[in-house]
Amino acid sequence: MKNILELLQMTAAALPDKQAVTAPDGACTWRELLHDTERVGTALAAWTAPRHPIPVLMEKGRHALCAFFGAVQAGCFYVPLSPALPEARLRQIVEVLRPPCLVTNQENSELAERLLPGGAVLDIGDLLRTAPDPAALTHIRRGMTGEDPLYCLFTSGSTGTPKGVVISHRAVLDFIPSFTALFGIGAEDVIGNQAPFDFDVSVKDIYGAMQTGATLAIIPRQLFSQPAQLMDFLDESRVTTLTWAVSALCLVSALHGLDYRTPSAVRRVLFSGEVMPPAHLRNWMKHLPQAAFVNLYGPTEITCNCTYHRIESDDIDPAGVPLGRPFPGRRVFLLDEDGREISRTGQTGEICVGGAGLALGYYNAPEQTARFFVQHPDNRRYHERIYRTGDLGQYDAQGALRFCGRRDFQIKHMGHRIELEEIERAAAQLDGVTQCCCIYDEDKSGLHAFYTGTAESAAVFRQLAQCLPVFMLPRTFERLEQLPLTPNGKVDRRRLLAIARRETL
Ligand code: AMP
Repeated sequence: MKNILELLQMTAAALPDKQAVTAPDGACTWRELLHDTERVGTALAAWTAPRHPIPVLMEKGRHALCAFFGAVQAGCFYVPLSPALPEARLRQIVEVLRPPCLVTNQENSELAERLLPGGAVLDIGDLLRTAPDPAALTHIRRGMTGEDPLYCLFTSGSTGTPKGVVISHRAVLDFIPSFTALFGIGAEDVIGNQAPFDFDVSVKDIYGAMQTGATLAIIPRQLFSQPAQLMDFLDESRVTTLTWAVSALCLVSALHGLDYRTPSAVRRVLFSGEVMPPAHLRNWMKHLPQAAFVNLYGPTEITCNCTYHRIESDDIDPAGVPLGRPFPGRRVFLLDEDGREISRTGQTGEICVGGAGLALGYYNAPEQTARFFVQHPDNRRYHERIYRTGDLGQYDAQGALRFCGRRDFQIKHMGHRIELEEIERAAAQLDGVTQCCCIYDEDKSGLHAFYTGTAESAAVFRQLAQCLPVFMLPRTFERLEQLPLTPNGKVDRRRLLAIARRETL
């Protein structure tokens, strides 16, 4: 199998009338989903040659999926764009992509026109009314390979521009069957989708359902601020599988959603994205004693996850849950500062990943790609491409990998991956700001910015809010005469953290 649409065709043939998707914008069977994508694909093929990015600007739902796989039918790859992002950021992304067209819906058409002025802004409703041309689609498919891009997801970039991670058909086809087999996901399951489609956590929901014929129940976004309704939804929809971000599980637990009602059909809870706080994990395990709990680890660049760890008892090590062992077909290892592989227990190194899951790189960013996707430094014998995650890890006495933080200034805040340098660069471009340094107080989950210059902090905040998403906006902005420096001339982040906490060093 080399094209993801083969999975869709296979499931549509095996389970044509089974519910594929339920979403706020409608439900459909597997056969209907396939036919809709053929209509959209036929229409899109008139606007673009294969292997181009097709941004899809709309809320997650049935229509977004039709647009995604329609783009793939046309030989292209899709780029989910959240209408909730600030317009300036969406514009940055569109500039990186330079797409031949953009697919949207009525609600977002004005925004789409502003993002692609004079360009082809296509309405999903119109595309769905096109008569399918199976011969044209077959012709496109013949020219495709498994190495062709399937999707591109944007994440924060330290250069000040978001990075578009490009993932191939092959990477997803390599990962999803081992993912569903390891955790026993099948046609009878109902997958409760939490993650937005521009997050790679959702890739497991979408393709896990497509491969097995499970139903993808897309949870309306607003339910995540209404835990009682969320629990009603999960229980009434008989959701069996939660592949959620840690931040979403913590939110439900902190707001006592589980005390109100337990989603009784849930059999597995698979979480990823950041370190799972033991107290919240114990709370979930207490309410769902029949469910399997698994910690999944990995950055978007390696296609979802590269290691997993099943949690066998609620006696959770205060040092945290291990990242565990590699998925089949993935090579996960630690490199020391000299580029040598570490096998010794307790020695810290950078987590590196090899194998079929590696991204094709960052779209339109060859320097960034060359920096992170590199030849294995200790292999001079043949070409072995690896991804340097920037995460630090150690092996424990049982041989499982454990997370030990980052070697750079990337953080996770409210479930979002953020490069602090991106905030700093955005601030330093504003009038009246000369220099900016941003720090993250992990204990209090707070982002704080310090800057030099003449600008008032309220003005800095106002301007930043126009170009950065809400989750990237620092909680405080403090103007300093100069940023404190360490003896070797770098900004002293420890001192800034102390200032933010009003502590003395
Ligand atoms: P993303 O690309 O948004 O999935 O973010 C990937 C980063 O999130 C990783 O490089 C880690 O820093 C962090 N991360 C992902 N999963 C875990 C986990 N299970 N435990 C700790 N950190 C994680």
